[in-house]
Amino acid sequence: MLKNKKIYIALLFLLICGAFAVKIINKREIPVLNYHEIDDDKHTALALSTYEFKAQMRYLKDNNYNAITLDQLLDYMQEGKPLPEKPVVITLDDGYEDNYTNAYPILKQYGLTATIFLISHYINWPNYLTWKEIDTMKDNDIVFEGHTYDHPNLSQIKDDNELKKQLLDSKIALQEHLGYQIKYLAYPCGDYNQHVISQVKKYGYRAAFTVNLGDDAANDNLYTLNRVPIFQMYRHTFFKFWLNLHFPYLMRMIQQARS
Ligand SMILES: [Zn+2]
Repeated sequence: MLKNKKIYIALLFLLICGAFAVKIINKREIPVLNYHEIDDDKHTALALSTYEFKAQMRYLKDNNYNAITLDQLLDYMQEGKPLPEKPVVITLDDGYEDNYTNAYPILKQYGLTATIFLISHYINWPNYLTWKEIDTMKDNDIVFEGHTYDHPNLSQIKDDNELKKQLLDSKIALQEHLGYQIKYLAYPCGDYNQHVISQVKKYGYRAAFTVNLGDDAANDNLYTLNRVPIFQMYRHTFFKFWLNLHFPYLMRMIQQARS
């Protein structure tokens, strides 16, 4: 009797594992890569060297990835519109000037579209993109979206008027210059809470992105979308990029176990 029970438990376990595996295989997930600065002199985690950035973009091109826009991603997630094979989204946060001088020529060389999340108040500041640079990239396959007014931790803001400035006023300022509707937000430092999400919805964003490591699939919450943050490492930056691109959830588990 006990032996039978053990067999049933083992079978049930295998069945659950099988169902889980099928679910994972059937779930079409899309990686949204997240970069910040592309700079050879800074040597910080957020500043990827041009050599590394180029190696990663070349890898995407050589391995037949298709860079898609956030509109394509969301049309797929919400309406099931078909995507090209091996879709990937490339995003850069904050709008550093090196995105124009260093990243843009590489993206152009490999024919990859990308989205830059802009901090509206920092445009034209030293080390940040100018409107002229933004306009040039806008005409060449780079899309711009919102990253608040001046990059606060949104969950710390208690005043709804301040949240409005960060989420709506910045959105309007970008729209007035770019001439199209800003639909997507990247939370500064990936920071949000339920109230922030309610305001993001209220001010008309279609979706919002965190910095939680993972891919995005059709049934995911549109206001807590995952990304694959890429950091410059002391060593093995490309290998870490490759692991995060292919096994984001495994890497997330390792990341959580370490912290
Ligand atoms: Zn940021």
